[in-house]
Amino acid sequence: DIRVRFAPSPTGPLHIGGVRTALFNYLFAKKHNGTFVLRIEDTDQNRYVEGAEDYIKNALDWCAIPFDEGPGKDGGFGPYRQSERKHLYKTYADQLIENGHAYYAFDTAEALDAHRKDHEAKGKTFIYNWHNREKLTNSLSLSEQEIENRLNSGDSFVIRFKSPKDETLHLVDEIRGDIKIDTNILDDKILFKSDGMPTYHLANIVDDHLMKITHVIRGEEWLPSLALHVLLYRALGWEAPSFSHLPLILKPVGKGKLSKRDGDKMGFPVFPLQWTDPKTGDVSSGYKEEGYLPEAVINMLAFLGWNPGTEQELFTLEELINEFDLKRVNKAGAKFDPEKTKWFQQQHLQKIDNKLLSQLFNKILQDKNVSTSLPLEKIVETVKERATFVKDLWDLSRFYFISPSEYDEKAIKKAWKEETPNLMHELTRILHDITDFSADTISTIVKGWITGKEIGFGKIMMPLRIALVGSLQGPDLFEIASMIGKEETIRRIEDAIE
Ligand code: GLU
Repeated sequence: DIRVRFAPSPTGPLHIGGVRTALFNYLFAKKHNGTFVLRIEDTDQNRYVEGAEDYIKNALDWCAIPFDEGPGKDGGFGPYRQSERKHLYKTYADQLIENGHAYYAFDTAEALDAHRKDHEAKGKTFIYNWHNREKLTNSLSLSEQEIENRLNSGDSFVIRFKSPKDETLHLVDEIRGDIKIDTNILDDKILFKSDGMPTYHLANIVDDHLMKITHVIRGEEWLPSLALHVLLYRALGWEAPSFSHLPLILKPVGKGKLSKRDGDKMGFPVFPLQWTDPKTGDVSSGYKEEGYLPEAVINMLAFLGWNPGTEQELFTLEELINEFDLKRVNKAGAKFDPEKTKWFQQQHLQKIDNKLLSQLFNKILQDKNVSTSLPLEKIVETVKERATFVKDLWDLSRFYFISPSEYDEKAIKKAWKEETPNLMHELTRILHDITDFSADTISTIVKGWITGKEIGFGKIMMPLRIALVGSLQGPDLFEIASMIGKEETIRRIEDAIE
């Protein structure tokens, strides 16, 4: 059975990189009829941020990529918050000490700092591993008696992993292939802290094992930890899951990783949902509040590091599940593109059926206190092609509901001539006599009249458009006239003549 997990730390709002990781896990799980687990990695009390866990859940909810197991949804492997699993980890740290893969270290922060400076002065880097272990204060350098004394007297300690000397590790990443690591460059990482909590490394491995995770799919920033994780599985006598590290998401311009701060700086959201910082009260914009459809955001995120190998760019979630393959995930960083994101949004908006779209649009009309008996579905149909967001529908179609309050100057210059008022006046009389005010009939009669006068169509059609719409843009003019009705059409023409 395939089991994957998304394991965020609740240290703030999830940015789109985190959502991308969740999405790839979700797609992989669904594709293989597996289970998608949400695990909250909150062992670092200092970095805990109020509201972050709820934010994560709400974000997954909005994106419609729900977890199968997680806080509040027990699947037999809970609890799913590491702070609630505290009691579990110490046993494994003890086990590693017993079998010689870990040790107590009593060094103070000051002592470690002194060693670091000492090395730097000689142009070397300080690594806490076999190079230096003996010079430091730990259970590998102290006598049995001394270790016991220190433990009994309650000296503060950490538990460190004893990384092996002179070994070449062969690691496998599903996306990057084989990776060789010389263990001599590895730090003896802290597994257990003086505050009685495990570090990320220990808790993460223990939980992946206990939760029977088969595939770890996570961001590239965790690749440097892979060697330690593989060594931990070996030291605990457990089979390791398969590992895939997703490529970095890069800034749209300039170099480097897209950061949480880039969004507001560059004018696009980097968060799925709006976030209010509980400490500063600062508000960061979110895709949802900006009017994006979750389908569009998901589609855009899927293409950050993955592609189907075909020309197809528009995908529903269902289609993504069918097409997704870890083998088609790239190694190279993926540039985030806010313009392309808008394009995905515009395209997905077109896919919404007119009935639903008109309901969404109606909410906007209500907010603007516009009540109407016009057929919204039809209106939406005529203008949606040019809309990116639901809110754009208002600007594109406002002339259906209210007469233009001003006229586009350029349009006037171009189309409003000396003879225009007379022609428009004549037109109102023609319109007045039409009994069946359907687009087709109006079109036939007006066009017949223009042809009979032997003048260019533009002489009538352009001023008429200015009168009805306010500019030279918009959908079919006879449709508009028919929709707003005879009286309103004539009134707008008369207003324009004045
Ligand atoms: N808690 C880690 C994070 O915040 C999880 C990394 C992993 O998936 O192993 O990203």
